[in-house]
Amino acid sequence: MRNLIKFIVMAACSLPVFAGRSAVAQRFNIGTYNLRYANHGDSVHGNGWGQRLSVISKLIRFHDFDIFGTQEGLYPMLEGLRDSLLGYTYIGIGRDDGKQAGEHSAIFYKTDKFTLLDKGDFWLSTITDRPNKGWDAVLPRICTWGKFKEKATGFVFYMYNLHMDHVGVKARAESAKLILAKIKAMPAGTPVILTGDFNVDQTSESYALIDNSGLLRDCYELSPLKYALNGTFNSFHADGKTDSRIDHIFVTRQFAVKRYGILVDTYRTKNEDIPAATDTSRTARRERMMGQYTARTPSDHFPVMVEVTHAAGTGKRSHGSASAAAGRIVVPGEGVALPAGGRHVILITVDGFRPDFYLDSSWQAVHIRQLMMGGAYAMGVNTVFPSMTYPAHTTIVTGVQPARHGVYFNNMFEPNGPTGKMYWNTDSSIKVPTIWAAAQQKGMKVAALFWPVSAGAPVQYNIPDIGSMGETVRERYSRPAGFIDLLKQQVFDGATRIEYGRDVNVGRIAAYVIGKDQPQLMTIHLFSVDHNEHQQGREGEQVREAVRGADSAVGIIMDAVKKAGIWDETDIIVTGDHGFVTVKTAVNPNVWLVKAGLITDVKKDQWKAQFFSVGGSSYLFLKDPNDRATLARVQGILDSLPEEQKKLFRIISRRQLDEIGGNPEAAFALSGLDGTSLGNGMMGEAVRPGHGGTHGYFPDFHEIQTGFVVYGPGVRKGGRVPVMNERDITSVVVRLLGLDLPTAAGKVPAGLLE
Ligand SMILES: [Zn+2]
Repeated sequence: MRNLIKFIVMAACSLPVFAGRSAVAQRFNIGTYNLRYANHGDSVHGNGWGQRLSVISKLIRFHDFDIFGTQEGLYPMLEGLRDSLLGYTYIGIGRDDGKQAGEHSAIFYKTDKFTLLDKGDFWLSTITDRPNKGWDAVLPRICTWGKFKEKATGFVFYMYNLHMDHVGVKARAESAKLILAKIKAMPAGTPVILTGDFNVDQTSESYALIDNSGLLRDCYELSPLKYALNGTFNSFHADGKTDSRIDHIFVTRQFAVKRYGILVDTYRTKNEDIPAATDTSRTARRERMMGQYTARTPSDHFPVMVEVTHAAGTGKRSHGSASAAAGRIVVPGEGVALPAGGRHVILITVDGFRPDFYLDSSWQAVHIRQLMMGGAYAMGVNTVFPSMTYPAHTTIVTGVQPARHGVYFNNMFEPNGPTGKMYWNTDSSIKVPTIWAAAQQKGMKVAALFWPVSAGAPVQYNIPDIGSMGETVRERYSRPAGFIDLLKQQVFDGATRIEYGRDVNVGRIAAYVIGKDQPQLMTIHLFSVDHNEHQQGREGEQVREAVRGADSAVGIIMDAVKKAGIWDETDIIVTGDHGFVTVKTAVNPNVWLVKAGLITDVKKDQWKAQFFSVGGSSYLFLKDPNDRATLARVQGILDSLPEEQKKLFRIISRRQLDEIGGNPEAAFALSGLDGTSLGNGMMGEAVRPGHGGTHGYFPDFHEIQTGFVVYGPGVRKGGRVPVMNERDITSVVVRLLGLDLPTAAGKVPAGLLE
């Protein structure tokens, strides 16, 4: 990508002829095609979809449709057509349920030519936002629209595609008025294309409403070259003839129409009951022999295609992207970071993500491995201390260690015992700027899904991770307002509760946001792998299932990116916050302090020193931070433990805490060794058998490392980094999106990006 831009810069400087290229890029082909819905009756008459699909696909590719509206496509038909049309994708929903049921008015487009900026659907009715029939219509009728950017020029336009009712006269007239009202509501001068099966021809009232609107004109009327040997409806009769054009392409004045055609292409199927050879003279040369075949039309409508040009620059330029004005390619100056506009970064964290999940194929993380093999990856990522979810995630969005960003643990140390309160919910806890804010400053759209310490963050879409605070709090902080209710309706079939613990559901929410708005930056936290590793340790069938679940969520997100047409400009990162250690032994160091009389009753504030344990590590807090005598006593207690207990942990000194940017208040810390977890128990045995898995350890050994995979246009394919740091992830995002975040302290690992 970057090399390509360099090439364009050089070519534009040295070769004047290059300017002609962009003039070509301003020309494109628009189509409209009623595909005829797949049904059994057609198959009986030899016009089954299975047979027509490949003909239609070839017709579209041969005539080189760049963007086209379809009508009557059912979901499986559209999926099949997209699969057969390499390089195209489509938008649109089923008219019967707003999802996949019933006929669609889908819009297909070439993904290398156009970027989808926005899209939507509405019903042709007085109630536009849900399935229903309008006026005197006998069926629900839907209109799908997309906002597109022509990549070569930056030209932005809207396309509407519809299928009007075949019976209701009033419905057709009102539908025409509805479309015109929508277009009139847009800023004046917005380029619009309207395609569809209008079910009426050029002599009808509803056609006249549009063609005489002063906004849109029929391309047939505008074209200097009309190739219209027939009307557009054929009823599957290759030999029928009509003058009625009921499928139309209308455009606003920003488009100039060069050619208009009704493509009357036909194909042949063999007649089984008629002898093949008709030439009985036996003298005809073999290549002139003709079989007896039936002429067939690929659908019961002929497609309409027009070639248009547009004056580039009349569309709104998207921020920062290379754009053509007056037929000239404008490029960013030398040394400017990659264009920010049109670039997307999707940063996915899998809580408890380990490098072996993608390095070892037996975990069956097929999507993450696909990203790894097509992109770059690290053998391991050093996390923060403690290696916990909240401190690590906050490091990822800031590029600094916990001592600087201020989120030291998942739950804050409370000297008088845990109250269950959460302290680190809102992003105001974060003391330094975040990538969310940096992206927002560049005018980018940002989404944060289930990210720790994100409540109130400057993002358009947000469902925060709010720990155990409950759904009411989560809903209060979700953005936009009512977002969770909207998801329940539109993504989860009207469910009263969304099961966020299933990563695929988080994937579906992300996919919804991508389909709706294509944010430039998304941070998405998948958390069920962590839960299962806590239960089973590093290995276990539950852990494997959870890894496959997280991988499925990644797959759902990848599909959504492809479907939104932004695959080529999206970098996807899959990383995590920490690795995992399988626990064999549990140590409760406060038991020793109770025995020594240093803790009497924390609830009554009768204590001099206490440990705050967070899984794999424990932090010593002194009631009086300058109480050196108590500190010395605690050190003495640890020193005098029997050897078999001493070998269960190591001491992390205050100096080591400073070096790694850990909690600034603790006197020192313990980090478990050889499968030892640390707990907050005060009574019973200090050392007990442990089970499951945990993290929180000092991050200097392989098992606690997390992983990192990055895929996309900015990435050096095959890049492999032996080891990187959690804060370096921030630098990668900053580089890919061209953000300004001078406080970030990491660096882009060598060999990772182009
Ligand atoms: Zn955890």
